[in-house]
Amino acid sequence: MNQITHWIDGKPWLGDAARRGRVFNPATGQQSGEVDFATVDEVDEAVAAAQRAFPGWRSTSLSRRSTALFSLRALLASHVDDLAALVTSEHGKVHADAAGEVARGLEVIEYACGIPQLLKGEFSEGASTGINVHSLRQPVGVVAGITPFNFPAMVPLWMFPLAIACGNTFVLKPSEKDPSASVYLAELVAEAGIPEGVFNVVQGDKVAVDRILTHPDIAAVSFVGSTPVARHVYETAARAGKRVQALGGAKNHMVVLPDADMAEAAEAAVSAGYGSAGERCMAASVLVAVGGCGDALVEGIRRRVDGLEVGPGTDPKSEMGPLITAEHRDKVASYLDIGTEEGATVVIDGRGRRVNGDENGYWLGPSLIDDVAPTMQVYRDEIFGPVLSVVRVESLDDALALIRANGFGNGAAIFTGDGGAAQRFETEVEAGMVGINVAIPVPVSYYSFGGWQGSLFGDLHVYGPDGVRFYTRGKAVTSRWSRIGEHHASLAFPNAAASESR
Ligand code: NAD
Repeated sequence: MNQITHWIDGKPWLGDAARRGRVFNPATGQQSGEVDFATVDEVDEAVAAAQRAFPGWRSTSLSRRSTALFSLRALLASHVDDLAALVTSEHGKVHADAAGEVARGLEVIEYACGIPQLLKGEFSEGASTGINVHSLRQPVGVVAGITPFNFPAMVPLWMFPLAIACGNTFVLKPSEKDPSASVYLAELVAEAGIPEGVFNVVQGDKVAVDRILTHPDIAAVSFVGSTPVARHVYETAARAGKRVQALGGAKNHMVVLPDADMAEAAEAAVSAGYGSAGERCMAASVLVAVGGCGDALVEGIRRRVDGLEVGPGTDPKSEMGPLITAEHRDKVASYLDIGTEEGATVVIDGRGRRVNGDENGYWLGPSLIDDVAPTMQVYRDEIFGPVLSVVRVESLDDALALIRANGFGNGAAIFTGDGGAAQRFETEVEAGMVGINVAIPVPVSYYSFGGWQGSLFGDLHVYGPDGVRFYTRGKAVTSRWSRIGEHHASLAFPNAAASESR
């Protein structure tokens, strides 16, 4: 049995045997490993290691930090397939998709390699006579990341490369459902020559998370996961005086206007709705068919789904793998009954899908529910699986109002050939990430990723320029090097004009 441990102070750390979880291969339903669940003491060990490493790492030159990140980038780039295979074995997504998530993580390391440029401050010579002012950004200390099951490599990579590039040390608490990718990343970090204690991993559940949220030596917490947990993380960590960014769940709308190329829109909906079995926070979940284009859209999706290969992620022919657990698969499938009871029409029922794989795998084929109304539970809940809903509306106004009234605001996309409509959508839509004829608008690493409404608690988004701001504190320095005796001391509040007139 594969034993998945913590990683503390540059080495594997065997946990307390009393607290362990089971890890499964979702394509076979077989247990593949056991993961240690951290106790409060073990979280404290990891934080202490990060705390010890902080002074040395913080004062390591930008040039050395950047060189270490270049090494990490090179190492990860040469191990994409190995890490992707590990992701597939515990998450279930198909290999190409897993390799894609590693590639998006690599892009964040590439951005972090430019840290000397990113941390450049400002300088004003002669703000007042003899007075210069400059600003700098400094690391916050020990920071923690808490990550979800659906991107076990990419989401940690959204956080820690930039956090450590900024001079912080890091404690990662990955999902207990697919924990191995985090240990693999920790091994690469060590191989890249990044000192012990700079990057630590504690495996586990709520016990570990809640210790992180109140630990006095953790300065900042980045969280990605479901909305109820994001809210808990935000409130608890903020109450404990930490800076927090907590990214939550999603219900992403893909709006299709009647002038769009329907074949292209249907293809995009299938890719965005069923890729990774719909277990993506940027998955298209609701198709909003405007002005009577619903029939053509539904027909296009049906045609494409008929030939869609569902099977183990290790099979190169598979386009969609299993869901993460049997319980989650059953919950997602239950929405097909709920939708029917609510008066919607199940057009494609994935429960009947023949799968080219082990019958004990957590399978559910692509499913489509038409005639969904905003009052229905299938519309309101985040289903997080391969179940797409179609809501039919009359106008772009209706589509925008629908999205505004939805509690989430992660991503939203529009398919149209009308530049004016697209521009209006971009301006008015209540979402943090917008696609125009792009169904999955995940920003590149030199922008930042984050939603609005119930999809984000906090202000700053992850990675990109917001990531640098989140992982650093600003400081403004006002300095004078003239001799004290040359100035008459006034008791008035210092201001440039008064000082000029003296
Ligand atoms: P989750 O909220 O169940 O778990 C996320 C993390 O929180 C895990 O590390 C887990 O161990 C921990 N956790 C779970 N329950 C907890 C509790 N009660 N108290 C403290 N910690 C707890 O999310 P998940 O099922 O792993 O991931 C899927 C969810 O993540 C979906 O809602 C998806 O939309 C969301 N997600 C959002 C983004 C984004 O960028 N907004 C990205 C990926 C996933």
